[in-house]
Amino acid sequence: MFYLTLQARLSALRIEPEFVGNRGRPAFAALVTRVKKGSQTMKFATKTIHAGQPSEPETGALVAPIFQTSTYEQDAPGHDKGFSYSRTNNPTRQRLETVLAALEGVDYAAAFASGLGAENAILQAYLRPGDEVIIPLDVYGGTYRILNRVYQPIGVVTKQLDTSDLDALEAAITARTRFVWIETPTNPRLLITDIAAVAKMAHAHKALVVVDNTFATPCFQQPFELGADIVVHSVTKYLAGHSDTVQGAALAKEAAVFEPIKFLQNATGAVPSPFDCWLTMRGLKTLELRMQRHEQNATAIANALLGHPLVRRVYFPGLGTHPGHEIARRQMTGFGGMVSFELDGSSGEVVAFASSRRYFALGESLGGVKALLCHPATMTHASIPPQARAELGLSDTLLRLSPGCENGEDLVEDLLEGLSQIAAARSARKPVGATAR
Ligand code: PLP
Repeated sequence: MFYLTLQARLSALRIEPEFVGNRGRPAFAALVTRVKKGSQTMKFATKTIHAGQPSEPETGALVAPIFQTSTYEQDAPGHDKGFSYSRTNNPTRQRLETVLAALEGVDYAAAFASGLGAENAILQAYLRPGDEVIIPLDVYGGTYRILNRVYQPIGVVTKQLDTSDLDALEAAITARTRFVWIETPTNPRLLITDIAAVAKMAHAHKALVVVDNTFATPCFQQPFELGADIVVHSVTKYLAGHSDTVQGAALAKEAAVFEPIKFLQNATGAVPSPFDCWLTMRGLKTLELRMQRHEQNATAIANALLGHPLVRRVYFPGLGTHPGHEIARRQMTGFGGMVSFELDGSSGEVVAFASSRRYFALGESLGGVKALLCHPATMTHASIPPQARAELGLSDTLLRLSPGCENGEDLVEDLLEGLSQIAAARSARKPVGATAR
């Protein structure tokens, strides 16, 4: 109820662009991040280093300083230099937004304090009671939670289905469908959805397509080229890339689609600090190099695990046996850096394996230079009841790996050593005279 009142108030308070602004500029035009002409012709790695990041004009500093300020001195009342207050806009954040927009190939990006902050701005900007949202079966748990615990109570309907099944999608879309929300690859089974096919279908029903591009990153997947209307990121992961900041971003191709999201960035205030924006820009400069290494390591690990007697199944879109392999080949320029696998063992063996790796730290995030390992059943997906987890195909022995930028041979050796330890422990427990399995 409170939320509804808030929504009504927000709508009532919505300020028309022509009424607010600095030196007569419309507020929206003054605040949005527009990508400079020319960045469109740069190759991806060049954009990560040059787009929106010229040397600082006053001193020539190659790396612009962090604008660690909350407020800005004005020339005369109402006449600022384009910045008035750092929730509304900040030069460091603006640089980050410019490079993010360039990397996704659009004009509009807004940075948020977390991926979920960005998701909330998108949902709050568009969803009204009675609206429907379609999400994938393997959707990130936080997306499921915000829809079911924050938006469902105010009348939004969530439909969860396999978004790679176009017949199921067609059957589920109605005139009330506001968003088809895709994650591809998904977490943790790395399932692939055909973005272009979904966009065609959603647009025929006047629904917007949101793509969570966290796992693929713009380095390997360009959702806007495939028809997406909005892209969302947990910048925390590969984009920032060093497991040292939490941040998010929402991007759009059309100004009209972006405007309500941009409005909420300022109106609800979930903005990242200038220092965090600077950290992300530093991380982005090596995004392509890092993604290449992540993918190389993931491929080596997937191949090493495939066919191992203690591994029941390997999930990696680069494997020819992966259900979405052909679509991934078509819509991605790399298969990503994540690998999941089902260990053929007891829960005790899974816990022992997960807790004792040399290089894979046990932790809930992903996408950093340091390798991480996660046991979804007890960590990221623990809030889903066991029966529902089983129905989603999330086995209790599933492990998700986020190989870092370490040497791939070291990572493979660490995993194979863990599997050998399980085999050795089993042999040691066997009664004398028992035959090998
Ligand atoms: N989307 C995906 C695919 C994620 O994995 C996550 C976090 O793990 C989020 C969104 C939310 O991002 P954040 O943790 O930065 O709020």
